[in-house]
Amino acid sequence: MAITSPDQLSRRTLLKTGLGLGVAAFAGIRPSFAMSDPIKLGANEVTVISDGNLSLPMNFLLPDRSAEEIEALFKPHGLPTDAATPDCNITVLRQDDRLVLFDAGAGANFQSSAGELLSGLDDAGIDPADVTDVVFTHAHPDHLWGILDDFDDVLYSEATLWVPQAEWDYWRADDTLAKTPEARKSFVVGAQSRFETMEDQVQMIKPGMEVIPGVEAVDTSGHTPGHMSFLIHGGSESVLVVGDAITNSVISFEKPEWNSGSDQDPQKGIETRKALLDRLATDQSRLIGFHLPNMGIGRVERSGAAYRFVAG
Ligand SMILES: [Zn+2]
Repeated sequence: MAITSPDQLSRRTLLKTGLGLGVAAFAGIRPSFAMSDPIKLGANEVTVISDGNLSLPMNFLLPDRSAEEIEALFKPHGLPTDAATPDCNITVLRQDDRLVLFDAGAGANFQSSAGELLSGLDDAGIDPADVTDVVFTHAHPDHLWGILDDFDDVLYSEATLWVPQAEWDYWRADDTLAKTPEARKSFVVGAQSRFETMEDQVQMIKPGMEVIPGVEAVDTSGHTPGHMSFLIHGGSESVLVVGDAITNSVISFEKPEWNSGSDQDPQKGIETRKALLDRLATDQSRLIGFHLPNMGIGRVERSGAAYRFVAG
């Protein structure tokens, strides 16, 4: 990929040394470029491109926990206890003549710190018209809303848009808006309007289906009713794109049994999370988490009765 300016070069160098994000945050400037090194899986090449980050109040993430519990969990990590600023990581798969995105990012209308994917794709030399498939884990704003461009047309005009059937049915159901709490009604309206625009390009995903050759859909519902993860096979390794089934590098790993305010069905979210962590710790295969650090890439290790995220 071309390096277009000394300014960009310095940002890249800083990012590669692991200093860039901190320096940029301190200066109040967000880096325009963040992309992982490629992971080779046989004929598949997986990279991760940043869509920026979100800012979420802690009482949204952990509505049932006391200030003391939250402090005891985060203080040892030197992390703030009032809010989290999770990264948003878009997995990109290149395979023969296919170019696949897993989720579409937040676009311009969710949080101002997110919606960076298009500039990341540009830096990576990817034209949106070259994207052959967009595979959705679920329909929350930070994953779906980036599917439309500034004219409210589908940004990836040539792509097949893969949506979990249960997710499609849930957000489009007549009673979903009425059943949704006020604070999240915009999620429903946003999903419905985007699905309507996308409809001609949409194909449904069912659990267990091979969506792309070597890419298997895994039911990980709980965060949303139709949430799916995707196991990318190739060579002797695999990578599980977990979406938001495992969201936070501290909470999800150290307290997987805690209710998450971001899960629409907290009890199902806990069951799914625990099963995934157990499987990943046993297999020692990599995961890519949409909101985890290190561009989401790492492994799961057991730590006492719980787990730890190991970047890499
Ligand atoms: Zn998310």
